[in-house]
Amino acid sequence: MDYQSTRDASRRVSPAQAVLRGLAPDGGLFVAEPPRLALEPLAGLDAVSLAGALLGALLPGFAEMDKLTRSAYAGKFETPGLTPLVPAGGRYVLELFHGPTSAFKDIALSVLPRLITAARDALGVTEELLILTATSGDTGKAALAGFCDVPGTKIIVFYPENGVSAVQKAQMVTQAGENVRVCAVRGNFDDAQSAVKAVFAAGLPEGCGVRLSSANSINIGRLVPQTAYYFKAYFDLVRLGRIALGDPVDFSVPTGNFGDILAGFLAKRMGLPVGTLICASNRNSVLTDFLRTGIYDRNRPFYRTLSPSMDILVSSNLERLLWFMTRDEAWVASCMRALRETGRFTVPPALLGRIQADFSCASCDDAQTLETIGTVWREHGYLLDTHTAAAWHAAAQCSRPTVVLATASPFKFPEAVLAALGERAEGFGAMERLSALTGLPIPRGLAGLQTLPVLHRDVIDCKDMLNYVTGRVRQWQK
Ligand SMILES: *Cc1c(COP(=O)(O)O)cnc(C)c1O
Repeated sequence: MDYQSTRDASRRVSPAQAVLRGLAPDGGLFVAEPPRLALEPLAGLDAVSLAGALLGALLPGFAEMDKLTRSAYAGKFETPGLTPLVPAGGRYVLELFHGPTSAFKDIALSVLPRLITAARDALGVTEELLILTATSGDTGKAALAGFCDVPGTKIIVFYPENGVSAVQKAQMVTQAGENVRVCAVRGNFDDAQSAVKAVFAAGLPEGCGVRLSSANSINIGRLVPQTAYYFKAYFDLVRLGRIALGDPVDFSVPTGNFGDILAGFLAKRMGLPVGTLICASNRNSVLTDFLRTGIYDRNRPFYRTLSPSMDILVSSNLERLLWFMTRDEAWVASCMRALRETGRFTVPPALLGRIQADFSCASCDDAQTLETIGTVWREHGYLLDTHTAAAWHAAAQCSRPTVVLATASPFKFPEAVLAALGERAEGFGAMERLSALTGLPIPRGLAGLQTLPVLHRDVIDCKDMLNYVTGRVRQWQK
């Protein structure tokens, strides 16, 4: 199984090369048609074994994938099953936030550093790896936690100066570790993400002894571990007697960069009976509008919302979906060129129809987000975070058994969640108040955050990113 660029079928690479490079040299994303798997042999596996089996199937050629997966997750999650499925209000909430940083990104970013270093060793690359990551809040901390003190790697995380929650910022700027750096960028997430892509395109000076790689969901190694929890949730529903093996299940997914939901699409192509994938957006409804009209148009205001990890107008992984749906690299490349040059592209009606057969969508503004959190708490005793609330809201249209993906702990956004319950408190006081009010414990990684020293204070303009990166590399090498 080779991977290729979404923009050029002749650029084929091994799974290890795809993981190590992150982005194809032509700016496209690495893709491959996944194998179809028999469900029965997978249905009895525990969460970690299931993850190992799926990683092995989607990234063949890595040595000892089962062992790699086991050591990646060992001792990191507060729940033995990694991703528990919790019934609430006639639906099922798939809790993906029990890892070290309380966001679903821990599931992929616990594994990615091991995949990248295994790929480097297998390919005989001797240079150090520098991971560059733009974050809308959660990827940054999860990547820092994953790469901290991993030998032979350095990581720099860029976050939008005013675009993340107070807790998210505190998680990042207190990160210790010899090989980590965190820097704020003046601008929003899209600005930070384009600046990082530009650094990749420009490259580092020849002979600097460092090779760039990415921990964003443009890296296929981020998406693959995420397929596991779709399978796990499905098999849990079978085990609960809620469905029979083969019955379709809908999944509602809080969406930003389209990575999480694309993992669900991959699971469907591997043979998991996924019904509709519901793409939930916040007020930045660029994806919802696209899925309704076939017009992707980023020429619109960028709103800062209560669900900052979904404040995105350029949704990178949509490019992968376009490829899966058309297998037409030249056409995908032309869409991406149009997006770059004019900020928009359009898909023909027949293609839109095929996309709509797999995906539906809904957007949710801040008022609806708060109302959803309040209602679900009062009526069902379940506490949603602001992102998961958007997915709960979008799931209103489902008729089949429905799994709502819970992508963050409510304690990551305590002020907003507390406001939804009709109370007010600032900063870390809000976390404690929320815990007292609901009787739910503050997650391990968030408790005590306010007492840690701030270690990172850099702030830069996007245009200075390449200089910043080369400066850091020089300092590290002294
Ligand atoms: C990153 C993130 C999302 C969006 O996921 P994508 O894979 O980028 O679509 C949703 N919710 C939370 C809490 C996140 O951190």
